[in-house]
Amino acid sequence: MIPMVDLKRQYHIMKTDIDAAIAETLEETQFILGSNVRLLEEEVGTYHGGGFAVGVANGTDALLLALRACDITAGDEVITTPFTFIATAEVITQLGATPVFVDISPETFNIDPAKIEERINKKTKAIIPVHLFGQPADMESIMTIARRHGLRVIEDCAQAFGAEFRGRKVATFGDCGAFSFFPSKNLACYGDGGMVIAADAALADRVRVLRNHGSRVRYYHELIGYNSRLDEIQAAILRIKLRKIDEMNENRRRNADCYRHFISRSDVRLPREAPGTKHVYHQFTLLTPHRDNLASALKAQGIASAVYYPVPLHRQQVFKDLEQDVSDFPVSEAFSKEVLSLPMFPELTEEEIRRIATAINGAP
Ligand SMILES: *Cc1c(COP(=O)(O)O)cnc(C)c1O
Repeated sequence: MIPMVDLKRQYHIMKTDIDAAIAETLEETQFILGSNVRLLEEEVGTYHGGGFAVGVANGTDALLLALRACDITAGDEVITTPFTFIATAEVITQLGATPVFVDISPETFNIDPAKIEERINKKTKAIIPVHLFGQPADMESIMTIARRHGLRVIEDCAQAFGAEFRGRKVATFGDCGAFSFFPSKNLACYGDGGMVIAADAALADRVRVLRNHGSRVRYYHELIGYNSRLDEIQAAILRIKLRKIDEMNENRRRNADCYRHFISRSDVRLPREAPGTKHVYHQFTLLTPHRDNLASALKAQGIASAVYYPVPLHRQQVFKDLEQDVSDFPVSEAFSKEVLSLPMFPELTEEEIRRIATAINGAP
């Protein structure tokens, strides 16, 4: 059986260090906002060339608190992609603002900058680009548009820790970058976890206050906030894994090359790295009109595959009342019927990739 992700393999490689870090945290008994969270924030900041990082409870909250810190509020419009996980748009609605979807580019699966400006109006306050599957969005074009119209930019980096656009890490272009450390993400903990990173100290400070009940000094509250803290055990685990993230991402990239080498079917389009970017392959997602045949052939040989995402957000029941026209999203519509993600994790072996490729090449 080859699963989509095998978390056990990675745990066994790092077990000694991780078990020791957990045991140490249990001995210290400082479970909330202790030294591991503080040090992880410093280390993630340094990794990104000096941003201010704030650990939060999960990636969804990272997006929510970043939007709050950027003053997004009821009545505002926020532009984003319909080809993403629900969390990206859910948080917009939670604040009483309205998600405005813009179709994706067929090259990258990410928001198409050429289609953003036609959706900007007086109510538009922000753009949330998503670096989907680990492929950076076109941050140069997006930032140019945002500056021209005075919009905030919150990067959804949940699937792209360590990815780069023109030599610069994602999360360092917009006002804020939001990360998820959900167990299957590239940098992942053993539960829920997330982080916001901001270049501006005041913005990061706002997130820091919001994550802890709007409080700076205990029992004094300046904002209506949240209980959204990253916990110490998760931070201790993440500090160990952060040391390995570049190596793990390189292994994902090597696996992607390996897939491209062994899969040979003219009716399958394999993901490519967009020029000038460093893709970190959170997913290896191909496109084919024969998706169901491929998925069954893989399943018959004990190989997992998955469809991310079968229903684009503009078609979700929760967004049925938004004013939108399905014909505005031809790429998302087509891709939702053709995408198929293959097993992808750093410890996947060449032997396994050959088996997967053979199953794909031989499928009807
Ligand atoms: C995982 C994910 C999130 C949400 O992260 P959680 O930690 O699960 O809350 C947001 N956006 C995208 C694109 C994701 O993949």
